[in-house]
Amino acid sequence: MKRTLAILGGSPVRTRPYAPNITTGLEERSAVLRVLDSGRLSLFEGSAKPTAPYSFCGGPEIQALEREWGAYYHAKHAITVNSATSGLYVAIGAAGCGAGDEVIVSPYTMSASAACALVYNALPVFADVEPDTFCLDPRSIEKCVTPRTKAVMVVHLAGQPADMDPIMEIARRHDLIVIEDCAQSHGITYKGRPVGTLGQIGVFSLNSNKTIQTGEGGVITTNHDEFALKMQLIRNHAETVVAGLGRNTRAQLVNMLGFNYRLNEIEAAIAREQLKKLSNFNSVRQEIAGYLTEKLKGFPGIIPPIVREGCTHGYYLYMIRYLAERAGLPRSLFGAALRAEGIPFLEGYVRPLYLQPMYQEQILYGETGCPFKCPFYKGHVDYSPGRCPVVENLYHDEMLVSEDIMRSNLTCGDMDDVVAAFEKIYLNIRELRDRAEGGTLQVEGKMWKAAVLPKTIA
Ligand SMILES: *Cc1c(COP(=O)(O)O)cnc(C)c1O
Repeated sequence: MKRTLAILGGSPVRTRPYAPNITTGLEERSAVLRVLDSGRLSLFEGSAKPTAPYSFCGGPEIQALEREWGAYYHAKHAITVNSATSGLYVAIGAAGCGAGDEVIVSPYTMSASAACALVYNALPVFADVEPDTFCLDPRSIEKCVTPRTKAVMVVHLAGQPADMDPIMEIARRHDLIVIEDCAQSHGITYKGRPVGTLGQIGVFSLNSNKTIQTGEGGVITTNHDEFALKMQLIRNHAETVVAGLGRNTRAQLVNMLGFNYRLNEIEAAIAREQLKKLSNFNSVRQEIAGYLTEKLKGFPGIIPPIVREGCTHGYYLYMIRYLAERAGLPRSLFGAALRAEGIPFLEGYVRPLYLQPMYQEQILYGETGCPFKCPFYKGHVDYSPGRCPVVENLYHDEMLVSEDIMRSNLTCGDMDDVVAAFEKIYLNIRELRDRAEGGTLQVEGKMWKAAVLPKTIA
């Protein structure tokens, strides 16, 4: 039986909203109470010689989390911070990026992946992504390298690992520091090795949307002692701490400026429990995503997410490439039809970062144009539209993305609703086109303009 599309006034496939990202339970509850009962909510002190029980490295929960996180990732150091954004700032600071330097980064990511360079007066240089994984394309990175390039910020987007072997090879050849933004890819492996330990520094997010979370928070991983010390200093009032260090260390670290990016004991206690659940959460995401992918494969114009060979995928987001000509509907109409059926997909993902007003206007600190027009900067950054054609094509035309349908508290039954909505749209595509062409279709409060329908129908 053919049912009327919800966008044409029929009843939707799903009326229940997808469950929010609730990842905590009784274990986190007792961990929080353990800290509350101790009365010690933070034991950080920004000093080289703190009085016990205060410490430059935080209290027992922070230190235990850092030990456990390091063991899980086989990283020599794990350093907690109060967000991945702070973690990225800390990483760029420790990497020594500054005025005149360039940092190569993807434009298809959360804004902080690029903004971290600007915080230290370095300039983000945007490279393009691979059209099938949406992660930085090594060939595009290579083209962006200049004598001013200091670091590459690699983003493992949506849970998909970037192609680290060729990226590390480019970095070795040009002596670049590689920072991995792992905010969306906890516990994911690239050819058997965990992301976050393949470059020099890895940064994870614990914000409330991520695979594991403490509300807000972040963790940095590194195998390098010098980066580790610098990152601990930047996290915790470096300038004060350095004053109390031995003369030789002081001489080397005199240029360190710190912030307060410290995580507290309650958040650390929650994170310890979350880390124990991570592999289970990833298994659920992989199971429901794999199930959905199998069912979506046959629909014309739908390219479900691929998994890079020899790697795992964390499915923080479910990203579909949508080919309008083959599907027979413009992407915006398809997206609206899905949403009307109660299936929350969005068009585009984030606007390529260089198209944001800050990069277009190139004004940041005060009104001088620094760091874009900094006198120490000898290059010329290009943020013009068209710079990264693959990303722009995904953003404007092809990407359909959902965060809400990929949660570790969902089931294959929840995926069946997604499949049912796709089936329903394809069964009714002709009617939907007719209505759209007739100029009588209301889409999310606006009259649909007929002219933009794709010509071919699969
Ligand atoms: C969420 C996210 C961040 C920032 O994480 P916060 O902990 O919220 O600061 C950075 N990069 C990427 C790719 C993200 O998805």
